[in-house]
Amino acid sequence: MTQFSEFTDLCIKIENIPGSLEMTDVFASFLKEVDDDELAVSCYMVMGEIFPAWTGKKLGLGPNLLYAALSKAAGISLDKIKALLRETGDVGETTYRALCEDTKSQSTFSSFFEAEDTDENACGAKGKLSIREVYDRLKEIADASGKGAQSQKIKSLQYLFSESAPIEAKYISRIALEELRIGIGEGIVRDSIAKAFDVPVAQVEFAFMVTNDLGDVATVSKKGGAEALSHQHIQVDRPVKMMLAQVTNSIEAAFAELDEAAVEWKFDGARLQIHKNGDDIQLFTRRLENVTNSLPDVVKAVTDSVTAENAVLDGEAVAIDENGNPRPFQDILRRFRRKYDVETTSRDIPIHVNLFDLLYADGVSCIEKPLTERRQKLSEIVKPDAIGISVDTLTITKDPEVAAQIYQAALAAGHEGVMIKNPSSPYSPGKRGKNWLKKKPVMDTLDLVVIGGEWGSGKRKNKIGSYVLACYDNIKNVYLEIGRVGTGLSDELLDALTEQFADLIEAENGVTLKIKPEVVFEIAFEEIQKSPNNPAGYALRFPRLVRVRDDKTAEEIDTIEKIERMYQGQKE
Ligand code: ATP
Repeated sequence: MTQFSEFTDLCIKIENIPGSLEMTDVFASFLKEVDDDELAVSCYMVMGEIFPAWTGKKLGLGPNLLYAALSKAAGISLDKIKALLRETGDVGETTYRALCEDTKSQSTFSSFFEAEDTDENACGAKGKLSIREVYDRLKEIADASGKGAQSQKIKSLQYLFSESAPIEAKYISRIALEELRIGIGEGIVRDSIAKAFDVPVAQVEFAFMVTNDLGDVATVSKKGGAEALSHQHIQVDRPVKMMLAQVTNSIEAAFAELDEAAVEWKFDGARLQIHKNGDDIQLFTRRLENVTNSLPDVVKAVTDSVTAENAVLDGEAVAIDENGNPRPFQDILRRFRRKYDVETTSRDIPIHVNLFDLLYADGVSCIEKPLTERRQKLSEIVKPDAIGISVDTLTITKDPEVAAQIYQAALAAGHEGVMIKNPSSPYSPGKRGKNWLKKKPVMDTLDLVVIGGEWGSGKRKNKIGSYVLACYDNIKNVYLEIGRVGTGLSDELLDALTEQFADLIEAENGVTLKIKPEVVFEIAFEEIQKSPNNPAGYALRFPRLVRVRDDKTAEEIDTIEKIERMYQGQKE
């Protein structure tokens, strides 16, 4: 049985390692040591997660609830906790200090290090919890709902804090608020599994793509090695990550990459992955949230029109007006999020699903097959006269001029542009590669997550008037600040945003706010500039909020790698 104190040691060690290779070595050794039933849990928790990726589930705990539990466990007032937060600006460090007997003398992380093994130091004592106990409690907290859930969550957290040493509680807090971020993301966990159980990275990667669960992959690797990994496959009812597209600056540039291309409209809607298992239909968003209950009309369209007994289909759901033209993006999100009056809303905002890919049909996985073959099969299993759903038109051509005409037609119909795909490419879940290229008219915007803000003054008093934005370093699983936005915000939007962010404020210092990274802003700008002052190393000139991307999670925002590429492209 592995103690949570051992996991804490692992976190401390990894946080102090700059390079991903060494991190891989350290985590691989840890995986070799833990018991079989601790493998999956270790993989989720080291990434700061509780649930595997395919569930689309997050712990979803508000900072205030955690502070209430901490205040009880430490026996100090909420005001004192808030003061500590202002001082440290960090929930983990606040937890550590609050739980240390003498918050003044034992205040720093390094002082813990120096006194690590002295038993008389209350801050350095070991806790009683195993890694499994911490995981199970956190899962219970995430799953608690209904009447009494809030106080149950506080009690469970209080228990975790009381039973663990302050340094362990520091990491429990960070996991509870989904802010562990010790520098390990999916890529490093994948490589660690390969190293720990001596299986090829490519096999681990394949198994992860189809199962969408690194915990399962670790367990299978240990038990059955490469052979067992190769037998993993897509499962109906378990969503996989969506294949994504790279930006191309021009249609000609795309054709230079691909001799022959498959061209189709880039619809202006929201992604939908459809799982059909007999009569059971499940619908997932690009965040892998299950939205089946909100979309009975889509369920009916799939039931009526998809002839395969079981299938996994990929497409874009578009909210349409009475003429079949696309309605604004926010309308489709209103449909996805709807919990009440679902029938009325489905009449007010009808949806048409444009199918463009097939991952699985009648017991056979299609993802390794070429796009053209997948499309052929897709057309065979969807009735041509279907209502509310159709297979979109795909044109295979070597001629950029043909693609340019399709592009103009898509724009004229109110859609976003074109997708230019490699006709012989497989479906690669979660990959954003050159096999799918997208062309839109404007210079691309960036999707960034809000990590902070500032209370406004004057007309904007009591409202969050500007927002601190960050991009994502997907290797290290950390967010890098890239600047602020305060324009493009109407009064109504400011009110709505201030309300939306109320539960996500982690710390306040004067007018400055630290915000839990959860809400994604799509930001337009004029230029990317080098900026050594920002942790990302870049800044945006004239940033402006275009829309809130409620269909994206914080992990799906644009990466520092993409920004670097855009900056280079801009220079050229
Ligand atoms: P964007 O903001 O441009 O939609 P994104 O980051 O949300 O970008 P990308 O993968 O970069 O996602 O762009 C592809 C998205 O375009 C898909 O996720 C899907 O929702 C949408 N889309 C619309 N039409 C198609 C199509 N024919 N094929 C693939 N994706 C399509």
